[in-house]
Amino acid sequence: MSRGRAAGPAAQRVTREHGALVNIVREPSCEDEAEPALLPVAEARRRIAASLSPLAETETLALADCVSRVLAGSVRAANDVPAHDNSAMDGYAIDRASIPESGEATLALLGTAWAGRPFEGTVGKGETVRIFTGAIMPDGADTVVIQERVRVAGDTVRIAADVEPGRNVRPAGEDVAAGEEVFAAGRRLGAAELGVLASLGVGRATVTRRPRVAFFTTGDELLPLADDTDGAPPPQGCLYDSNRYTLGALLAGLGVEAIDLGIVADEPVATRRALRTGAARADLVVSSGGISAGEADFVTRAFHEIGEVAFWKIAMRPGRPLAFGRIGAAGSDGAAFFGLPGNPVAVMVTFLQFVRPAILRLSGMREIEPPVLPARSLSTLRKSPGRVEYQRGFMRVVDGDLVVESTGKQGAGRLSSMSAANCLIVLDADLDGVGTGERVGVQPFHGLLPG
Ligand code: AMP
Ligand code: MG
Repeated sequence: MSRGRAAGPAAQRVTREHGALVNIVREPSCEDEAEPALLPVAEARRRIAASLSPLAETETLALADCVSRVLAGSVRAANDVPAHDNSAMDGYAIDRASIPESGEATLALLGTAWAGRPFEGTVGKGETVRIFTGAIMPDGADTVVIQERVRVAGDTVRIAADVEPGRNVRPAGEDVAAGEEVFAAGRRLGAAELGVLASLGVGRATVTRRPRVAFFTTGDELLPLADDTDGAPPPQGCLYDSNRYTLGALLAGLGVEAIDLGIVADEPVATRRALRTGAARADLVVSSGGISAGEADFVTRAFHEIGEVAFWKIAMRPGRPLAFGRIGAAGSDGAAFFGLPGNPVAVMVTFLQFVRPAILRLSGMREIEPPVLPARSLSTLRKSPGRVEYQRGFMRVVDGDLVVESTGKQGAGRLSSMSAANCLIVLDADLDGVGTGERVGVQPFHGLLPG
């Protein structure tokens, strides 16, 4: 490439802003040039995870208030679930030994076992008890014969011989056995986990405090939305601040306590103030914009005055520039900090790759990285080697195979490509394009994105 490095960033900035303001789509850019000094995504993730620890503060809440919260300690079962052997079907409880090897048995009907109202007596040889689903197995009975397979005449019940011992009985402890570790610390409590805890009679859980995350957007060109903003075109040179809505929704989806610090002007005093305010009120501060090379001077200075912030060029696309560091000391007045790029798609992609795992780590979760599934690409995907690309895709299952199609043009300003997508197609750094039918990785939005 003949373009000098010194001219690169400025040219890049002008092009980007120009592109955004007058809506000129310029898909490839000088960002495509291979750069050996780029930081691999995995290394950035490792550094971020290493610099964060789970929040130490916990709270004990009623189970219903623990939705999506993360267990601070492990939970051990104090009792069996189910607590007693009970019937899985409506039928007749018997001692299997009552039934001959062949032919038919005629048993005396002693009474009824209801769910919630056990049969008090014992079932002996030649006897049976009418039993309903969920009722405790009477003493002496080990098997339930379903009602469709018996013939009842008055107080006698006839049962054919082919009855499997133990059939239709749910043994005590089948779901959870007393003494077993039900959930380890770091487990996120979803519907199933809350149900399991409730089945054990655990009415409260000790969970990690919700992370507090302050966020702001930067840019003199940004226009806030008001309640009565109703699709009017922005004044020339301005654009609506969409990133704050995207970020707000991403944070809400993670169940954090989000603090919206608004739009911050492209100038050092306001930037420093926002960072200080965020650090005082939150565990993590997230911003968008103002970190690309052309703008970085004042931002860099502001960030460095406030804390220890590294500016990384990450081997990914979109989202190459990323600032990460710490503002103030760890503890009450300090916070970790992410400076995300300004481009709306880059905001979402870098959030999912870096901020989400960081928040999950603060929450105490162990599984923090977005999962990648193997899929077959139905599209030809253009890509140059050197950086991991996160392209927008739509995945579905065809003939039992997970397949994915590109949503089309992939410019970092095309936020609508994210809303058309249901996954990110993850293309490894060394790949030089993908042909139809080839294997790719996909990160499904389901579970990553709210809604
Ligand atoms: P920056 O990194 O600040 O130069 O931002 C890059 C580009 O991202 C800008 O030129 C805008 O087109 C876009 N952008 C930045 N911030 C926002 C925002 N809050 N909402 C929507 N688009 C934004
Ligand atoms: Mg900006």
